[in-house]
Amino acid sequence: MCSMSSSHRKKARTSELLPCPECGEVEVVRTGERCQLADGLKIKSLVHYKCRSCGARLFDDDAIHAIQAARASQSARSTG
Ligand SMILES: [Zn+2]
Repeated sequence: MCSMSSSHRKKARTSELLPCPECGEVEVVRTGERCQLADGLKIKSLVHYKCRSCGARLFDDDAIHAIQAARASQSARSTG
């Protein structure tokens, strides 16, 4: 039997804030600023979440995609 598969997926846009993994504080704000990651990758104006209490950075899907894109473009440039 054949049925039309309706797209079951909808884009879930959660505005729910996650608590900070470092300190548990929920005062996490969305911010866009220059970031340097642990591996030295620098990204100008990366939009991410930042804990107002301890300053820990949290990366959501959008931020992770931006990081991956930046990493890909930077590793393509350097031969290291
Ligand atoms: Zn925190």
